[in-house]
Amino acid sequence: MNYLMPEFLVQVDHERCRRCKLCVNNCGFEALDFKERVVSDDSKCVACHRCVLVCPERAINVVKNPVAFKESYHWNVEHIKNIYKQAATGGKLLTATGNEKPYKSYFDHLVLDACQVTNPSIDPLREPMELRTYLGSKPDKVEIVKENGKYKLKTKMPPQVKLETPIVFAAMSYGAISLNAHKALAAAAKECGILYNTGEGGLHRDLYEYADHTIVQVASGRFGIDREYLNKGVMVEIKIGQGAKPGIGGHLPGEKVDEEVSQTRRIPVGSDAISPAPHHDIYSIEDLSQLIYAIKEATNYQKPVCVKIAAVHNVAAIASGIARAGADVIYIDGFRGGTGATPATIRDHVGIPIEMALAAVDDRLRSEGIRNRVSIIASGGIRSSADMIKAIALGADAVGIGTAALIAIGCQMCQKCHTGRCSWGIATQRPERVRVLKPEKAKEQLVNLVRSWSLELKEILGALGVNAVESLRGSRERLRGIGLNQIELEILGVKPVGR
Ligand code: SF4
Ligand code: SF4
Repeated sequence: MNYLMPEFLVQVDHERCRRCKLCVNNCGFEALDFKERVVSDDSKCVACHRCVLVCPERAINVVKNPVAFKESYHWNVEHIKNIYKQAATGGKLLTATGNEKPYKSYFDHLVLDACQVTNPSIDPLREPMELRTYLGSKPDKVEIVKENGKYKLKTKMPPQVKLETPIVFAAMSYGAISLNAHKALAAAAKECGILYNTGEGGLHRDLYEYADHTIVQVASGRFGIDREYLNKGVMVEIKIGQGAKPGIGGHLPGEKVDEEVSQTRRIPVGSDAISPAPHHDIYSIEDLSQLIYAIKEATNYQKPVCVKIAAVHNVAAIASGIARAGADVIYIDGFRGGTGATPATIRDHVGIPIEMALAAVDDRLRSEGIRNRVSIIASGGIRSSADMIKAIALGADAVGIGTAALIAIGCQMCQKCHTGRCSWGIATQRPERVRVLKPEKAKEQLVNLVRSWSLELKEILGALGVNAVESLRGSRERLRGIGLNQIELEILGVKPVGR
């Protein structure tokens, strides 16, 4: 007996329905069928809203089943549902996207400053605002010489990567998301002058043309990695951890490994792609340093090497070790970061918020005098330009956006990416679903999102009276905390409002 009541109910207005079957053909979860009229199997509906939005007659609605579970404060829907599922299967509960527990969002407890009277603000419509950001290690000092009447930089700079605005698209592998989604991210990165990230799935040949806007990732599974791959990006990222699943590896279900994914990852069709939890050649900072320098050798010291870690308890000490190991960029992913598949218990109960991690890392690197040695990218639940600006004020050089980017191209946050059935053609490899995502249109939506956030960033910089995003980096004096206790304020390094 199945104890699980349907969580959602599909309501079809048969008077309005014109029997076009668009909804049936668009449901990736096979919850709809046509038997003289549209019928639903509510137990399969995940509220992805595809049917609701494609119906030309607005004849479908999906609502929460009000009597699905008799919940109480302590035993809520999630607990009851999960126990039924585990009692039936004896397995781990998989989910997708980011942590959904109601932990405090520190971004929502931080407010920004603005100029008044004595310190004039700047009008971004009339004055130039510099959003350009360079990622890479910076020398302790720079020497400038004059030659033939011209000033020249004498210091040899480590490799730098230019962003036109302080945003990168977070790592999402081909396999976890569709090639059309990857194409949209790559093309949008090129148009915006920013970067997208291959994730751990290797690089499809169709994306080679975007090399100047590609971060190529090296994860523990080492899928599709060789010298050619490493040289097909402007930056190489070693992935040690990920905010949504700190301490565990990756798992791409065999269901998502079709012919193309298998060629890109160099694994058999239909086989699960399992990345081990650790890199089997990294058990110390010295081992990490060896891999960093092996990659630098393989790329002729022309590309910054980034190390990505999940935000965990002693993240500041870990980041210090990474900077000393020779990394040029540290990418810190907070516990609200998304994923295509993870055990729910890891996603929701392991890791710490990016705001705290970022402040702790920036503090530590500054106090050790090595902040200039690495750039910091912060991610893990960045939802808006306001979050981005606060992250920069807390110490980030740039932010990574993953979930926000997917929402921009239509993701409805149904959290079923791991099933490979995404109705929206994003987290799936099923040809009939992939083709509904139009890369050109999705690219436009991503470009618009990045443009909007950049405009808002300029607006706030103007209100703060600064004309370069660089001036805001780590400038916590421009933040105040509201509704935070003394210890939280101390870790964040901000004063309370009113002070
Ligand atoms: S899974 Fe999505 S498309 Fe299918 S019935 Fe539910 S809301 Fe509609
Ligand atoms: S990508 Fe698709 S499956 Fe994943 S949460 Fe978004 S709509 Fe759902």
